[in-house]
Amino acid sequence: MSIREISRRFGAIQALDGISLDFPAGSFTALLGPSGCGKSTLLRLIAGFEAPDAGSIRFGSKTVADPLRQVPPEKRGVGMVFQSYALWPHMDVAGNVSYPLKTRGLDRASIEARVGEVLAMVGLEGFGSRRVDELSGGQRQRVALARCIVADSGIILFDEPLANLDIHLRATMLDAFRHIHRATGATIVYVTHDQGEALALADRIAVLDRGRLLQVGSPTEIYRAPVHVNVAGFVGRG
Ligand code: ATP
Ligand code: MG
Repeated sequence: MSIREISRRFGAIQALDGISLDFPAGSFTALLGPSGCGKSTLLRLIAGFEAPDAGSIRFGSKTVADPLRQVPPEKRGVGMVFQSYALWPHMDVAGNVSYPLKTRGLDRASIEARVGEVLAMVGLEGFGSRRVDELSGGQRQRVALARCIVADSGIILFDEPLANLDIHLRATMLDAFRHIHRATGATIVYVTHDQGEALALADRIAVLDRGRLLQVGSPTEIYRAPVHVNVAGFVGRG
């Protein structure tokens, strides 16, 4: 996936200002930056919930967004775990998680086995028959994560997926993210404020500030040689 010269303005706010970035197939990129710098906006553009004012987004050789064209989210095949991302509240957990499998002609026993396996992976063993609207925010996020794993999307977007979770669960989930990345080979874009998370998970870190890309590099490069005083501020040096 690649984005070229992407800009997006909301009224007087230039949320994204000419960002270009490549996301190699199978890479795990963390987007790091302060509140309001444009991280979520960038994910929403990749997912297709917003259109860019200028620039283009390509998935492989396919252009999914440019000023003349906007492929809708459901046709992009992108998996998402957003804090506000809606599950089907009237369905139980297993119904939500198994949804992507039902279109693939798998038999019931295989679907049940897969759902059980994935729920265990995200720490929701035994939650299959619980209704989603009776779950906590953190539990819902984990249901969304389980559905993402099951859907086997080539691109998965995470927007602060650990924000609602306690410390113990965070550790479990860091393992789950590594596992998902290894097991699916998906291209992952992971938004966080937390440099520790970015350093622990990502093979590349992109640092944003006020809608611009400040630096992109391996965790070691970003940590050892922050190019900008703001980057140094984020990664705890400077
Ligand atoms: P946070 O870390 O707090 O989630 P962020 O980096 O995700 O911040 P964005 O949500 O991308 O930031 O917002 C970037 C800027 O664009 C902010 O100033 C925000 O107020 C503004 N913005 C985002 N979406 C809209 C919208 N729909 N209408 C108006 N302004 C918006
Ligand atoms: Mg955000």
